Formats: sequence, structure tokens, C-alpha cells
Amino acid sequence: MASESGGMPPEILSLLKEALSRTDPEGEPYARTMSSVFAPTLKEDPAEAELASHRLMIRAGLIRKLAGGIYSYLPAMLRSLRKLERIIRRALNSRGAQELLLPAVQPLELWKESGRDRKYGPELLRLRDRHNREFAIGPTHEEVITDIVRREIRSFRDLPLNLYQIQTKFRDEIRPRFGLMRGREFIMKDAYSFDTCSEAANDSYRAMHEAYTEIFGRCGLNFAAVEADSGAIGGSYSHEFMVIADSGENTLVSCPECGYAANQEKAELTGYAVHEGREEELAKVSTPDQRHVPELAKFLDVPESCIIKSMLFILEDKGPVLVLIPGDREINPVKLENCLAGGAARLAGPEEALEITGMPPGFVTPVGAKVRIVADRAVSRMLSGTVGAGEEGWHFTGAKPGRDFRVDEYHDLAMSVAGDPCPRCGKPVTVRRGIEVGHVFKLGTRYSEALGARIALADGSEVPIFMGCYGIGLGRTIAASIEQSHDKDGIVWPMPLAPWEAALLPLQTQKPEVMGRAAALLRELAVLGVETLLDDRDERPGLKFKDADLMGLPLRITVSEKSVAKGACELRERATGAVTMLPLEAAAAAVKEMRDRALAFRP
Ligand code: ATP
Ligand code: MG
Repeated sequence: MASESGGMPPEILSLLKEALSRTDPEGEPYARTMSSVFAPTLKEDPAEAELASHRLMIRAGLIRKLAGGIYSYLPAMLRSLRKLERIIRRALNSRGAQELLLPAVQPLELWKESGRDRKYGPELLRLRDRHNREFAIGPTHEEVITDIVRREIRSFRDLPLNLYQIQTKFRDEIRPRFGLMRGREFIMKDAYSFDTCSEAANDSYRAMHEAYTEIFGRCGLNFAAVEADSGAIGGSYSHEFMVIADSGENTLVSCPECGYAANQEKAELTGYAVHEGREEELAKVSTPDQRHVPELAKFLDVPESCIIKSMLFILEDKGPVLVLIPGDREINPVKLENCLAGGAARLAGPEEALEITGMPPGFVTPVGAKVRIVADRAVSRMLSGTVGAGEEGWHFTGAKPGRDFRVDEYHDLAMSVAGDPCPRCGKPVTVRRGIEVGHVFKLGTRYSEALGARIALADGSEVPIFMGCYGIGLGRTIAASIEQSHDKDGIVWPMPLAPWEAALLPLQTQKPEVMGRAAALLRELAVLGVETLLDDRDERPGLKFKDADLMGLPLRITVSEKSVAKGACELRERATGAVTMLPLEAAAAAVKEMRDRALAFRP
């Protein structure tokens, strides 16, 4: 500060000093100067960043990488994280949840008790202490919290209970990428609910679902809650909260008509249109080199949906299974895993398939196949289709399920695509991309049974506790917000998560009439509690505007020689680009009003 405004008249310096001394109840100043804030911005895009949010978080001086998937949060980022924490705490505390803080280091013993040491695999970072005892760095805390509860909670009178923490997790992700989006070390809010019975657990689940809707709504995000697969955590029911963004790793299937929404992995799909064909004789036709559905369809001059694709999958626990599906459809491996309950499923490699079936890849046939055969339900509606003939260069046409080949089981196995019928109302679904920022699970008694967390009911009988668990990734939420809201010039912060609410740009810092007006405005804003970043640097206006756009604070106030001559300043909204000229005396109040309006939560 001192060097930048060395020649300033003392009244201006004292205005500035007063502005900078105003603090919020936590002692944090409302106003800061750019010259003193540690937010190193970059002119160039970092080479390794593929995603806009990752690139912008580095360029705007929010984060810096220490190692793969491990980042430091710089001051502006921490301000944003703290705001998100406050939004989360408010929503959870008001619903009776209690905050605690659990250790990051967990005895591996607990993971052996729950059986997850194996299931979590190499994502679990293990270490040994000096006594050679095994530990893990917590990737999640079901085991630790269940251990506390099994020791301390004995009676139904102590329930319901909902405990949460905001804490650093570690997961040794196989492919950490996209900055904070998929880190190895990351901050998570994890909550756990404990109830006496399944119905009470449903109430807890509903309350958390509601809390999450409030949290992401308050953040100003465009999001959707979708039905989800329960995955490695293991549970009976779950929803994911997805921020809508084209760059998201997830695909959401939703019905604009009835509101059904599910992760594509989980989305039910039955009764979609198939090419039924008509009953024909089985005929063997020569199809030299036609290994793939699109070429084969062209070669035979039939729609792809007339072909029945046969793909060999290997289930972790149950071995090979031949999966049949109409040729224009993709198999959904998550649904396959769930309906066969044989652990992880993977597509067999060409040599492996040859070894198991004795048939060349591209020509595998269900006709006379020895392995277990499962098919998508749509196949049962086909009167004839084309399948491989089990020999290089040959297919069968006119193959009818049940007549020409055996199907052991029919399941819903196809991946939903846009336009497919909604499983609830039959209207066409839409498909969008999303970023998973939160996940709520109904766990049931999976952990309480494994770890022996039981309570006595009023009639004296003992039951395992019904649990739920609920996570939000804080860094990922902020990254998702940037992913959803940015432009070519930089971040476009939603007001609730912005590190500061306004940027104040005096364009000629050496001119006392400009700096004097800016300092007075800064002081007024601080008095009104508007978080403002003053660009006090003696730089060209162009550079100041560029940095302001990059940092993306929602409101930008410019004070220049020209505007001061008219007794005015310019207010620009980052999101819309809308510009208004405000009389200097009325500016602070107007800015505060806009801030308040942007923070108001409309459920
Ligand atoms: P994903 O499928 O993206 O790996 P997950 O299902 O493993 O996520 P949960 O175990 O449900 O995630 O964790 C709760 C929340 O923690 C997620 O919704 C997400 O916001 C966040 N999260 C999970 N893994 C990471 C990660 N590697 N980096 C940043 N945030 C993460
Ligand atoms: Mg994961």
C-alpha cells in the first residue's frame, strides 16, 4: 500500500485506512487491496490444464499444484471455500446435524472389520507407523464413525443422531485430473445418520436430500438430483447431486415431463423401439471381414437394430457370460454388474474370448454357445435377427431367440439415450452431462452389522442401527461452479461463492481526485459490509480490466477522471456485462442492494 500511494494527501490515506480497518464478526476485513492480496495471476494458460475451471483456478491465483492431485488453496480460494462451508453448516445445523472432527489417520483394522480394505483396493493409501502397525489415510469415514457410535450409543433413546465433519480426505485416484475436480487430497463434508429403523432412516435421508437441495441452490448453481448407483460404499438407495455442465464426467437421463432423473449408469430402460422383424428360417450367410455392427449392417443392407450383438463379459466372481443386445444399442456395464451380482464386469479381450468360446472375435454366436447367456429384454421381442455364426467370415440371419439359441436370463441392460421412453411416464427423456458434487446414500445396516453397532429398543430387543451417509466435495463444487459459469475472459463467480463481492477500480491511482473518490467509496462499502477488492496498483486501465475479468468478481465499480468529472462511477455486472452509471453519493447503497438481491435465496 505504502509504495503505491506514496504521494497521496493524508486525508485520502486516512480514508483508506479506515476502510481497511472495518472487519466482519470474524475479524476479516471487508476491504482489501490488490497490491497486498496474495493472488498471483498468470497471463498464459497453464499447459497441463484441460478444463476451463482448472485453467482459470490456476490463472486467477486460486490454487497451486504441489504434486499430482495435491493442491494448495491460496487466500482467494480459501475465502470461497469458507463461504461454501458456511452455506453447508447452516443447512445441516438447522436440521439438527452436529459437527465433529474425526482423525484423518485410521487403523487398517477397522477396514478389515468392514471388509472394505480389499474392496477399496489401491485407492486406499496405507502406511505403517514405527511399531509396524498398519494405518490408512481416510478416503471416507463410515468405519470410524460407526466405531464411535458402537461404543457410545446403546439405546433407542439416543437416536436419531446425525454427525458431520468438514475434513481433508485422501484417495489415491488412478487418474487424478482436472485440478480440484478429481484430486487425490480433497476437502469433503461427510455426514452420517443413525436411526432405530428403516422408516426413521428414510426421514433422515429425506432431510439430507432437502439440505443438499438448499445448499446447491444457495450456491447459485444449476443442478439436478438424480437416482444413482450405490457403488463401492454399498447401500440400498442413493441420489447424486449433479451440476449441469458439458464437461462433466457423468451423464444424466431426465424426463422433462414427469421429473424422473437418473445417472445414465442407473437409468432404467425398457420398452424402447426394436426392429422386431418377422419369423424366418435360420440361414448362414457369408460376411467376409464384417466384424463390426455398422459395416455388417451396410454389407447386408439392413438397419443396425436387426443385428443382435454378442459380447463376452467376464464377471469378477462368476466368470464369463455372453451378453446379447440389439446392434444399435450399448451395454450398460453397471446394470450388468447389478443384475448378475457377480462383482465387477469387464469386456473380454479378443484372445481371451477366442480361448473361452473357441470363436473368432466379431463372429461370436449364441447359437449352441456353452457359456451362460443373458440378453437385454428388447431381444426377447425380436422375431428374427442376425448373429455371428461362430466361424470367421460367417453370420446367421433369421436367428430367433428361444428357437435358435438359448437365453438364460433377460434383464434391462441397455444404456439410455436421448429420446428413449421415460421408465415412469413413457415420454422421451433428455440426456445432459453433469459433475457429481454431492451424494446421499441410504446405507441400511451394512456397516452397523459388520462392526456390531447395535441398540436396545423399548421392548428390550436388540437391533443393528440403520445408517445413512452423505458427502459433498467442496473443492469440486467450487470447480463445478466455475465450469458452469465462466467466459473467454475468466471466471464469472456467482455472488454466494465469490471470494469478494465487488472489485473497485480507480483508473488513475496517482490522481488525488480519483483516488480520493475511490477511497471514500471503499470506506462506504466497508461500512455497509460489502466485500470489496480495491485495485490500487499503478497499472494501465486495460490490465486492470483484464485482471478483473479473470478474477470474475460479480460487481465491478470503475472510478476514472472522466467519471469523477461527472460526479459518477461506472458499475458493471460481470455475468451480464450490463453497465450503469451511478452518482458517486448513491453508488455504495446501490452496490449493497444488488449484492443483497444476489444473495437472497429463493427455493
Ligand atoms: P466419483 O464417482 O466422482 O469418484 P465418488 O462416488 O467416489 O465420486 P463419494 O465417495 O460419494 O464420491 O464422495 C462424496 C463426494 O466427494 C463426491 O460427490 C465428490 O463431490 C467428492 N469427491 C469424491 N472423490 C473426489 C476426488 N477425487 N476429488 C475431489 N472431490 C471428490
Ligand atoms: Mg470415486
